[in-house]
Amino acid sequence: MTSLRRPHAAVLGGGALGLTLALRLAQRGEAVTLFERETEPGGLAAGFRPAPELPGGGPYLDRFYHHLFRSDTSILALVEEMGLGAHLRWGSPTNMVLWRGKFWQPYSATGLLRFLPLPLLDRVRMGAVLALLKAWPNERPFEGHTAARWLRRAMGAKGFGILWEPLLRAKFGARADDIAMPWFWSRIHCRSFSLGYLDLGHQALYDRMVAEITRLGGTVRLGTSVDEAHLVGEGADGGQWAVAWRDRDGVAGTSRFDRVASTLPVRVTARVVRGLPEAWVARHDWGEAYGAHCLVLSLDRPLLPHGAYWLNVNDPGYPFLVVVEHTNYAPSSLYGGRHLVYLGNYHPMDHPIFGRDIESVKAEFLPALARVVPGFDASWVREAWMFRAPYAQPIVTREYAAHIPATRGPLPGLWIGSMFQVYPQDRGQNYSVALANRLALEMAADPAPGLAGVTRRGVL
Ligand SMILES: Cc1cc2nc3c(=O)[nH]c(=O)nc-3n(C[C@H](O)[C@H](O)[C@H](O)COP(=O)(O)OP(=O)(O)OC[C@H]3O[C@@H](n4cnc5c(N)ncnc54)[C@H](O)[C@@H]3O)c2cc1C
Repeated sequence: MTSLRRPHAAVLGGGALGLTLALRLAQRGEAVTLFERETEPGGLAAGFRPAPELPGGGPYLDRFYHHLFRSDTSILALVEEMGLGAHLRWGSPTNMVLWRGKFWQPYSATGLLRFLPLPLLDRVRMGAVLALLKAWPNERPFEGHTAARWLRRAMGAKGFGILWEPLLRAKFGARADDIAMPWFWSRIHCRSFSLGYLDLGHQALYDRMVAEITRLGGTVRLGTSVDEAHLVGEGADGGQWAVAWRDRDGVAGTSRFDRVASTLPVRVTARVVRGLPEAWVARHDWGEAYGAHCLVLSLDRPLLPHGAYWLNVNDPGYPFLVVVEHTNYAPSSLYGGRHLVYLGNYHPMDHPIFGRDIESVKAEFLPALARVVPGFDASWVREAWMFRAPYAQPIVTREYAAHIPATRGPLPGLWIGSMFQVYPQDRGQNYSVALANRLALEMAADPAPGLAGVTRRGVL
């Protein structure tokens, strides 16, 4: 006899990945409950409202600078699907680097040719290497190489040392020399020069997805952290999952599900899910991640010269690796005339900066900003916000790929879809959305342990 009971899935995590997965499962008629620790959906791509006096509270601004590339086809399709296509703007803002106190634009062919700190032959050589990486269709020849060694050899020590080594060092700290060359290839190959942004902020996309999941009968439990998940009840009916959760009011409970899909960092999944085989834990509870830190400033006037949007700070001795003037890309009129600037960096998750308050961070960052932009004065700052997030940047070493787990977990009914499975591309919303789309198809093709007898008609 067949049952018409719909399988009930728990999705752990409400970032791009968890929300897309919950949406796809709900669209297939599956009962789904998503648990998200924070009170807003969106994870690393969540936003805040910098101009609350505007009608409706004004647009969101991402807490951490985000843009989309033309190659980000999965998230672009999702933006259209959620009815936000008209809010997607494209542009080619100015990207620059600070080198020995001067601003340069070496990130285009003509800009590189004018990059005087490098001898002409080195400029041509670097241009040829970057063109090769752009054209090369896959990462295969680069597997087994580190970016530092491969690039130093290919483009010369001087060019690598000025333009790329400081970026690897800033992003990956002590691990910079170990970063896999396929990761670097994908940064050059997969990214378009044209950048897109949602003028309502990515938070608007994630809010819409919550509304759509809910409309389809799913449940989104914001502000609810999952402490533990384990498989219970073997036998004729198969296993079920017990998910122990706790909300912000201290209310705790345990709910039963037919299957669990964890979109948390893999190492967090290894702690939350009980009963994982030792061999799986030994192989996949592995690797490092850095946290992200951002001070966002609202200024009364533009900051960066040349209308620059993005400034890599390649000079040593600064407490931030990048200055992103968002309103040199999106108009400041969107935000009530505010000029919005991010000062961002990555650090090991136990770095003292994650414990500091905003005033102490400002006291360090603003004088440093005045060294980047002579003439900048702290009196230009009208408002400031500070954001930090753990598990924001996987450290993609040469061994990384060998430790990525399969999407089908090692226990019945357990599925794993995490930004930490994205390889060789750098993590990004697009890759989380694409992975979630694939995971939803895989889950649909595979009955939950407790639902082996459910008819396809009953499920879909
Ligand atoms: C500084 C910075 C710049 C970036 N720039 C870009 C960019 O320009 N373009 C781009 O597309 N991407 C960019 N990204 C990457 C992008 O933000 C991520 O790739 C994407 O948001 C990852 O989504 P996710 O759902 O896979 O993971 P996450 O967003 O990390 O979602 C995981 C979720 O799980 C929740 N969670 C954790 N533990 C628990 C628990 N125990 N119970 C319940 N919930 C839990 C977290 O709160 C989080 O919401 C950037 C990221 C950073 C940090």
